[in-house]
Formats: sequence, structure tokens, C-alpha cells
Amino acid sequence: MLNLSIPEHIEPLRNKVLKFIEERIYPVEKELFETDRDGRRDTMQKLMKEAKAQGLWALGHPEEIGGGGLPFMDYVFINEVVGRSAAATVALGTHSLQDSIMLHRYASDEWRDKYLKPLVAGEVFPSFGMTEPGVASSDPTQLQTRAELIGDEWVINGRKWFTSGAAQAAYTTVMCRTETDVPDHAAFSQIVVPTSTKGYNIVRDVAVMGEYEGHYEVAYDNVRVPKANLLGPRGQGFKIAQDRLGPGRIRLS
Ligand SMILES: Cc1cc2nc3c(=O)[nH]c(=O)nc-3n(C[C@H](O)[C@H](O)[C@H](O)COP(=O)(O)OP(=O)(O)OC[C@H]3O[C@@H](n4cnc5c(N)ncnc54)[C@H](O)[C@@H]3O)c2cc1C
Repeated sequence: MLNLSIPEHIEPLRNKVLKFIEERIYPVEKELFETDRDGRRDTMQKLMKEAKAQGLWALGHPEEIGGGGLPFMDYVFINEVVGRSAAATVALGTHSLQDSIMLHRYASDEWRDKYLKPLVAGEVFPSFGMTEPGVASSDPTQLQTRAELIGDEWVINGRKWFTSGAAQAAYTTVMCRTETDVPDHAAFSQIVVPTSTKGYNIVRDVAVMGEYEGHYEVAYDNVRVPKANLLGPRGQGFKIAQDRLGPGRIRLS
């Protein structure tokens, strides 16, 4: 039977994280939620700095990319308390875990060099574009966004929504159909799109349960990015998405 009691060796660190959340984050949570959720403003920056100084930063990220290197099951007990506050995920640097692991495993050297260090350090924010309007995206075989390799560039056309954090993200990893005449599960790829790319256009902030919290609809109109922006092998987008989304909620909170 699975033992879910808090392991003795992780309890002191968990208590330290909890103390930080209760004493440093809860008192400013409303302010952060209303004005500072994107991590660009002073209060959040100050919390991030404190978390780093106290050894509480990015605890679940692999050590080799600048994280705390906690094993997954140890991190579960930390993230259970981080999950008490949405602001804590940014203040403690856990928000980038899924994207950092994805870049670490699959990005070309160029993209790893460009984004991985600042991502783990909380200097830039990522986003992930899979879900689409008009498509039951819980079955991603139906996704309509397409990327075509023309010369040395991917040309992307389509529309995504619920892309969390798109407005402050430095880049989006976008799931596109790249292959034809193959089974659906081998037909999609993940491609990195810097948000400054021409044709990447935020349409609107989509309300979730009546609140505008930064989950965006984004149009991709002839977005052109270099061939090297492909994450992992062509046609492996489903596997990469599963690697990300499977343990995703536990990693992110
Ligand atoms: C707060 C929030 C943040 C999000 N952030 C992101 C993000 O950053 N990036 C991103 O890409 N997405 C994001 N999403 C989107 C989320 O992952 C999707 O909502 C989810 O994958 C389900 O897809 P859908 O909304 O298209 O629902 P649907 O696929 O339409 O499903 C709706 C319901 O219908 C059911 N259903 C679907 N197909 C069938 C069928 N054939 N037969 C019977 N029942 C069916 C489903 O089980 C479900 O209960 C976010 C969503 C929320 C709420």
C-alpha cells in the first residue's frame, strides 16, 4: 500500500516552505493577485529574491539546470503546501518546472542556452499552447493548428486558447500538426515560438469561471520560426505533451 505520510527527512524543508508561504506570501496575496500576479512587479521580485536566499527556490527542478534537485516523491510533499497559494508557485520558482524539463529534455542547444537558465531563475516566463477553440482538446488528435516546413522555416497557422500566461511569456511551445498520412499520434510536433515573432497575436484574455486571470486566446497567422525551434523529433509532439502533462499538476501544484 502507498504510504502517504510525510517522510521524516522532508518535514523540516516542508515546514520552512510553509512558514515562508504563511508569513511572507499570505499577507500580500491579495495585492499580488490583483496587481502583481505576473511576477514583474516589485513585491513579487522581492519574494523571489528572499526565496532564493533561503534555499527555497525551484526545489523540484533538476540540479543540473539550477534547481533543488528533489526527487519527485519528496517534491510532492513540498508542492502540496506550495499549492495553497497561486502566488507561491511564482514566488518559489515552481511555476516553470514543466517547461524547464521539456526544454532540458528536448530543446536544441541553441534554445536550451537561450531560455533554460533565465527560465529556471524566474527571469522569463514560458507558456504552452495546446488547447484550441472549436475542438474538444481533451482529445488532441483533433487539433487543427498546422506547421509546414518551408525551406528552413516552420510556418504556423492556427488558433489556441487557454494559453496560460501568454501575455508575459517570452515564448510559447505550440503543439501543431506537422505530418500527414501517418497515425494521429505520430502527426504532431512541439515548436518553440518567441512571443515577439510576427504573426503571433494575442486575441483576448479568456475568462475562467468569470475571472480574467491570464489564460489567453492566441492567433498564429503565418508565424515563421527557424527549423531548429522544433522540440525533440518531428512527430513526437504527443509523447512530449504526455511527458509534460502527465505529472504536470503535481509539478506545478
Ligand atoms: C485555468 C486553466 C488553465 C489552462 N491552461 C492551459 C494552457 O496553458 N495551455 C493549454 O494548451 N491549455 C490550457 N488549458 C486548457 C485545458 O487543458 C483544456 O480545457 C482541457 O485539455 C480540456 O479541453 P477542452 O477545454 O477543449 O474540453 P473538451 O475536450 O471539450 O471537454 C469538455 C468535456 O467534454 C468531454 N468530452 C470531450 N470529448 C468527448 C467525447 N468525444 N465524448 C464524450 N465526452 C467528451 C470531456 O471529458 C470534458 O468533460 C487550461 C484550462 C484552464 C481551465
